[in-house]
Amino acid sequence: MLSNSVLSTRMTPRHHTLRERAMACLTPQWLERWRTAPGGHIRKDAWQDLASQGLTGASLPAEHGGQGLGLLGALVLGEALAQVGDGGLALGMHVQNEIACDWLVSSGDAALRDRYLPGLVAGTLVACQCDTDPSADEPTTARTEGDEVVVHGRKKFVVNGANADLCFVSVRLDGEPAIVLVDKNTPGVRVREVYDKFGTRAIDSALVEFDRTRVPASQVVSRRGLSQLMRWNRVMSRMRFLIAADAFFTHRTLLAHIVGHSTARELGGRPLASWPVNEHALARARADQELMEAGLTECFLRLTEGGSTVPEIAELKWFCVERTTELAGLATDLEGGAGYMWDSVALRAHAQVRGFRMSGGSQTTMLTVANHSMACRAELDAPALAAAPGRRRG
Ligand SMILES: Cc1cc2nc3c(=O)[nH]c(=O)nc-3n(C[C@H](O)[C@H](O)[C@H](O)COP(=O)(O)OP(=O)(O)OC[C@H]3O[C@@H](n4cnc5c(N)ncnc54)[C@H](O)[C@@H]3O)c2cc1C
Repeated sequence: MLSNSVLSTRMTPRHHTLRERAMACLTPQWLERWRTAPGGHIRKDAWQDLASQGLTGASLPAEHGGQGLGLLGALVLGEALAQVGDGGLALGMHVQNEIACDWLVSSGDAALRDRYLPGLVAGTLVACQCDTDPSADEPTTARTEGDEVVVHGRKKFVVNGANADLCFVSVRLDGEPAIVLVDKNTPGVRVREVYDKFGTRAIDSALVEFDRTRVPASQVVSRRGLSQLMRWNRVMSRMRFLIAADAFFTHRTLLAHIVGHSTARELGGRPLASWPVNEHALARARADQELMEAGLTECFLRLTEGGSTVPEIAELKWFCVERTTELAGLATDLEGGAGYMWDSVALRAHAQVRGFRMSGGSQTTMLTVANHSMACRAELDAPALAAAPGRRRG
């Protein structure tokens, strides 16, 4: 994808250097070296190794200590991360580099930025984004008490939750949505559980509890109103875009694998891939890959050069993840009995994509976001359409 006619022209020599470094470092062997145990998640000191290899702060502007390589830098990393064969590391990196750094930069608070950004770039600090409440009836709340806020609640399935030093917690602050930065060392913060997952195992996922945790009011990095909504949408749209790209890279690898397998495997006197039922399915997967690439390129331009992003990227994440899930199912079947064994390439890809379905918001949520936004837009467009009979919406 990075070699297509739109993105390749935007690749600078520094993007190419990042790509070479990332491709050389981010291998299955690297992952094995930094896991807590075989099949476990990465150790905390792995982040310092990533930093020493120049793989952190890629998109962060240079004036804030980053590499200033923008969203394209994050995409370059995403492609290399797909090599490790586990989607978890990509999710952890997106949270650290895109979400946490963005909250700090856009907070406009120089003291907070100076205190935390250098550690995130150096890998001495790890961050997590705490969003998912146990249920709608158990929201995480915060209330202002003098010059402090008191955070109370639990967040589940939090990527980097166990390793993290910094938690960016979405709360109802005095009844309004806000993001509060909580240092993990603060009294009342506890990791209640580290989940044993099906896929994305390279990164920890944890249940994090905040029990009447007091933090300075200056650590409210975003609060209420339109600005909170816009910043939330910006952060989540970048995250969803990168997850869509992760799905695309998984799809590309998986398609190459299964075409290779089903071309080599002869059944009934011809290659498995040549039986019409499979030929059609594989042709469709190739078409899906091209559609994904077109969608990613279009949304990349929206994110970097302007335009509506929220519904388009929700749709993109839905499409890329849905189609990759479908291909994982097909590829698992085409592997036959081997597709049921733990070391099956297709089954392992399946496990990663299951994680992509929920992270950054579920597939159902993507459809809901896209539907609501498109419906609102149609309503806003309606008077203009009525005033210009015969005009068709493009
Ligand atoms: C790999 C992975 C990484 C994650 N990373 C993070 C993270 O870093 N931080 C974090 O806070 N959370 C994270 N999550 C959690 C994730 O955001 C949630 O799992 C997801 O939003 C769904 O919420 P839930 O698990 O509470 O399911 P539920 O809310 O119980 O939903 C279950 C299903 O029902 C669907 N559903 C919900 N409401 C409706 C409705 N009205 N109509 C129809 N369908 C509906 C949902 O879309 C979902 O498919 C992660 C999850 C995974 C698997």
